[in-house]
Amino acid sequence: MKVILQNLTKVFPGRNRKVQADVVAVNDFTFEIPDGLLIGLLGPSGCGKSTALNLICGLQTPTAGRIFFGDDDVTDLPPESRGVGLVFQNYALYPHLTVLQNILFPLQNLKGADKLSKAAMLARAQEVAGLVQIAELMDRKPGELSGGQQQRVAIARALVKMPKVLLLDEPLSNLDARLRLQTREELRRIQRQTQITTVFVTHDQEEAMSISDRIVVMRKGVAEQIGKPQEVYDSPANLFVATFLGTPPINVFRGSVVSDTLRIGEDAVLALSGVPDQEVVVGVRPEGLLLRREGPFRCHLNSIEVLGRDVSILSSHDASINPVIRSIISAESAVDASSSSVSFALHPDKVFLFNKETEERIFWRRQD
Ligand code: ADP
Ligand code: MG
Repeated sequence: MKVILQNLTKVFPGRNRKVQADVVAVNDFTFEIPDGLLIGLLGPSGCGKSTALNLICGLQTPTAGRIFFGDDDVTDLPPESRGVGLVFQNYALYPHLTVLQNILFPLQNLKGADKLSKAAMLARAQEVAGLVQIAELMDRKPGELSGGQQQRVAIARALVKMPKVLLLDEPLSNLDARLRLQTREELRRIQRQTQITTVFVTHDQEEAMSISDRIVVMRKGVAEQIGKPQEVYDSPANLFVATFLGTPPINVFRGSVVSDTLRIGEDAVLALSGVPDQEVVVGVRPEGLLLRREGPFRCHLNSIEVLGRDVSILSSHDASINPVIRSIISAESAVDASSSSVSFALHPDKVFLFNKETEERIFWRRQD
C-alpha cells in the first residue's frame, strides 16, 4: 500500500499562549512512501517523529494537510478503520493474558464482514507467531519472556490483522545492544517477507541506515532530506544531515575558499573550482582523512585507538569545531605513535562544504 503525506502539519497550541508558544511538531510534510518499502523516520528526540507516526495511524488529527493510503483519503478515518498495525517502544502487552491470547486479541473485536471463525483466528495467530519465531512460547505470560521475545509478540499482534501499513515507534529502544541488533535484522526479514509498507521511527541513525529502504531525516518538524541511506550519507543536503549521520561522526572545521583553494585554518588542503571566495564550514568524514606523511592537512596527534579491524586516530587542529578529529584507517597502515603530529590528505568524495550562515551545502567541482 502506497502512503502519501500531503503538506501534513501538526501544531500543538501553547497551554497558555502568553507564556508558551505553539509547537509545530510536524511542519508541512510532503512525501510519498512507495508500496512495500521500509521507511526510517530519523531525527533527534523531540523533532516530531512520533507525532508524524500518530498522524499516519490516526491517533492524532492534523492541523493541515491530507493523508492517502493508495487512492483513499484516510485523513478523517479513525485509527481502527485505517488498517494499520502499531508497535511501540514499551511492548504494551496484556500481562494477564498468554502470548496466544495477546495475539488473538485484535481479531476478537472484528465486526461484520471482517469477523473470523475461531479456527481461522487460531490459524492466523499461528501463522504470525511462526513468522516472528515465537511459536513455542504461545502458552507463556509476557512476564515470562525476555524483552526481545515480548517485542516479537507485540509485532505478531500488530501483524495479525494483516495491516496495510505497519508503524513502529522506537520498537528496539528497550532492548540491550546485542538483542537490538538481532531484532532489527528480524524486523527487516519480516518486512521483506510480508512486503507490508512500514514506517520505522528511531533516533538511532545506525539503526535507520541499516534497515531502511529510504530514510527521512527530520529536524524540528521539518523533513530535511529524504533518500536511500547511502545516498543521504554520501550527499548530505546540509550540515545538520551531515553531522546526524555517521559513526564516528563527520569532522567539522572552520575553513575558507580562496582562489580555488580550500583552506582549513592555514592549511591549503584541496584544489577545487566552482566556489566564489568565502568562509565556509567544512565537513570531512572520518574515512576521508587519508594518512600521508607529507599530507597538506597537519594536525596534532592526540592518541590512537585500536578497534580490531580498524585504527582510529584522534587528533586536533586549531580550526576544528569539535575538540577531537577522528579518522579511521585500516590496521595495516603505520602510524608513528611517538610523533606529536600527523598529516592527512583529504579524499575529495568525503569533503563537504556548507554555507557559514545557512548551513546549506555548497557544491564544488574537482579541478582537472
Ligand atoms: P519525537 O517522537 O521525535 O521525540 P514528538 O513527536 O513526540 O517527538 O514531539 C514533537 C514536539 O511536539 C515536541 O516538542 C513535543 O514536546 C511536542 N508535543 C508532542 N506531543 C504533544 C502534545 N500532545 N501536546 C503538546 N505538545 C506535544
Ligand atoms: Mg517519539
